[in-house]
Amino acid sequence: MTRTTCPYCGVGCGVAVVDGVPKGDPAHPANFGRLCSKGAALKDTLNLPDRLTVPTMQGSETGWDQALNHIAAEFTRIRNEHGPEAIAFYVSGQFLTEDYYAANKLMKGFIGAGNIDTNSRLCMSSSVAGHVRAFGEDVVPGCYDDLEEADLVIQVGSNMAWCHPVLYQRMMAAREKRGIRIVCIDPRRTATAETADLHLALAPGADVVLWNGLLVWLANHQRLDPDWTARHVSGLEETLEAARQAAPSIAFVAAAAGLRVEDVRGFYELFAGTERVVTLYSQGVNQSSSGTDKVNAILNCHLATGRIGRPGMGPFSLTGQPNAMGGREVGGLANQLAAHMAFTPQDIDRVGRFWGAPGMTKGPGLKAVDLFDAVDDGRVKAVWIAATNPADSMPRAGKVREALKKCPLVIVADAWPTDTTKLAHIVLPASSWAEKDGTVTNSERCISRQRGFRAAPGQARPDWWMFAEVGRRMGWESAFAWQNPADIFREHASLSAFENDGARVFNLGGLVEISDSQYDELPPVQWPVPRPGTGVTGPRLFARGGFSTPDGKARMVPLTLPIQESVAESELTLNTGRVRDQWHTMTRTGRVPHLMTHIPAPSIAMHPRDAAARGLTEKGLARVESENGSVVMRVSLDEGLRPGDVFASMHWSDQFTSSGPIDRLVHAKTDPFSGQPDLKGTKVRIDAVAEAWRGHLLRLSGGEPELSDALWWSKAPITNGFAFELAGWNSLQQEVHSEGVLRRLLRISGEAELVSYSDPRKAMFRYAGILHGRLEACIFFEPPGADFSGVEQAKTLLGREISAMDRIALLAGIGGGAAKPAGKIVCSCFSVTQDQIQGAIQAEGLTTHAQIGARLKAGTNCGSCIPELKKLLQSVPALNAAE
Ligand code: SF4
Repeated sequence: MTRTTCPYCGVGCGVAVVDGVPKGDPAHPANFGRLCSKGAALKDTLNLPDRLTVPTMQGSETGWDQALNHIAAEFTRIRNEHGPEAIAFYVSGQFLTEDYYAANKLMKGFIGAGNIDTNSRLCMSSSVAGHVRAFGEDVVPGCYDDLEEADLVIQVGSNMAWCHPVLYQRMMAAREKRGIRIVCIDPRRTATAETADLHLALAPGADVVLWNGLLVWLANHQRLDPDWTARHVSGLEETLEAARQAAPSIAFVAAAAGLRVEDVRGFYELFAGTERVVTLYSQGVNQSSSGTDKVNAILNCHLATGRIGRPGMGPFSLTGQPNAMGGREVGGLANQLAAHMAFTPQDIDRVGRFWGAPGMTKGPGLKAVDLFDAVDDGRVKAVWIAATNPADSMPRAGKVREALKKCPLVIVADAWPTDTTKLAHIVLPASSWAEKDGTVTNSERCISRQRGFRAAPGQARPDWWMFAEVGRRMGWESAFAWQNPADIFREHASLSAFENDGARVFNLGGLVEISDSQYDELPPVQWPVPRPGTGVTGPRLFARGGFSTPDGKARMVPLTLPIQESVAESELTLNTGRVRDQWHTMTRTGRVPHLMTHIPAPSIAMHPRDAAARGLTEKGLARVESENGSVVMRVSLDEGLRPGDVFASMHWSDQFTSSGPIDRLVHAKTDPFSGQPDLKGTKVRIDAVAEAWRGHLLRLSGGEPELSDALWWSKAPITNGFAFELAGWNSLQQEVHSEGVLRRLLRISGEAELVSYSDPRKAMFRYAGILHGRLEACIFFEPPGADFSGVEQAKTLLGREISAMDRIALLAGIGGGAAKPAGKIVCSCFSVTQDQIQGAIQAEGLTTHAQIGARLKAGTNCGSCIPELKKLLQSVPALNAAE
């Protein structure tokens, strides 16, 4: 058995690989054996096709020596001619800590610029900035147990049920036992909000006024903790004064946030009346042009009441990525130096002496949005992008693509081809999750080993090795002489303890002497890890003060933020985020058929009232436009959105849809303190697109459908091939005007038999390509609103030899001799379909999600689908119950 860690979200679940199959690790303290739908599907990602296995330069295969020598030579030349700031690294929360350490040391200590930033900038850098402002250091004070020990959990801008499912499930299990109250603060009625006791659907951007109002209310009702604040907090009076100005009364707050007075009062009374309060927050708070202020508004209330660092209480930032926290520890953000040290002259000197670095950076580097602007305007002449896909995930993604096209040297290291590798001069094949060794740190500061259990294919190598090789080839042999990840980890631990003397909470002093074999065996360990004999700190911090500020006190931050910008009547506010079964730009999860059944295609979700005002209906086509570009997408009606707000998922890329990444539209506004992009506040206009026809195409290969630009498509893998949804706004006759067009669309050769069925009166046309009795491809065309009967059955026939009966059934759009079609999957962990659940509810009179679980197992693993099970229970009248 190999113990390792899930590579997706910041919960950091342990995985035990037995006989090559990844399963939940019962011994890991984050998940105790549970995995969510994505983690449970890791076994399906081990043999994905299309791995990058050989370095390439200008599209031609080359050897590692040639590629690395070229990079080292070009970096040296550019550094000499244009200075160190002309080189930049853009890395990833998917990196292991050791990868991060190597890249950070090379850039900040030896190339000599601060220009290393990470995609964690897009994820939680506002939390980092908020922690530093309040605590003097980027520290999450609590631990996961607090979610189970709290009496009140407040979820702010966090759809935990979908984005941190195992932790959500732990909390919900504790709620069943102990009756934890839950308040969800989110403009959207998400799956998480569905299960809360109180949902505050506040106006986007109104978080600061809501929390300022709470601070005022607590003060007015003598619910602050004067003893604790006197000893451990500075800035209370100024902060309270500012809050009184900004949020003078509950009525004011309710009006500003678009909430009911009684709901605001109810929330305030719950907070005031409950000692054990945990406030969880993630991207809904961080991804904002006022993200850092939102974080500090939350921290202010916890600090003013002393609700921090004790069991069941404290503010808790949930990190998005598996090792976003490790990147923060190392200094992977451009505005952090290393090991929680800043860019003060003393820290630069200290790190420089530790590294023996000849050319330490003099200050911070470019944050992500600024970094790609500098690529665009030519200040950055060489960029190394690793384990991330900014061509899809950065705001103004179109501009980022244009910038990369202009850049003289673009190096991309990844495991699979992406929309970013297409723009690279040099592509370096990287080891993937199952092949890498190192450490990751999750949201509760727990360091876990990631252990490889498969050989990397071809010439793929770990990222730390690539950076070390370039460092050596640039002339710094001894500084990058590591032989393995354990060497790097020891150096990282040593730096954290170097001249620390209690100045920084982040301290891995107890792991400095770890041997290779101890590193191999390292169990999950939470930091700080003090040197042996100096005492153990425990999983919680700051209950008795001891903040990383000169006076040891936390700093409350006065906040007087304007509430929100005005929006033109024709505009809507675009919120972007995640869906349950996908991860980032889908390079892995988008290739697993059953993970694509929950939400198979991208859409723009909007309130029915906004849709009606624009003549839009469910599944209709809409053009979504911002100042940065426009895309055509399907509409999905959602009463859980506030009128005026729309939502689109961040995952779909050019590889999966003609809509491309939604980040093409997203503006590049950033938070002034953290530099985190405001990914939830772009103004868009939406108009209907008149569809002429719709289609479903099934075929063995996944390349882009070859029709005109008047086409929307999305693609999902199915068991034997790919399923495409199509829609067009030119007439079908204009698009499919010859057999040649049809054969190209189906990707069948002239040898294949092309059979068809047509009903021109109903504008219904079906074609199938059959070769040697096997179904190679088929396409169904119908008018908008048609039900496309037979598509699900056709999926089960694709790639199989089909009988004469199957052929007739296929063209007639009715069930053939194949297995029962899958239908929409609600529970991905156990592949339970909506039909099965509805059938069981009706036939057996099930009335609770627990009964559904007992009958079908749905909802009994990660629990992400429990809100959907509850909705189905409400929508399907149980026959037995009705009798
Ligand atoms: S909650 Fe899911 S995605 Fe996150 S670490 Fe656990 S198994 Fe992986």
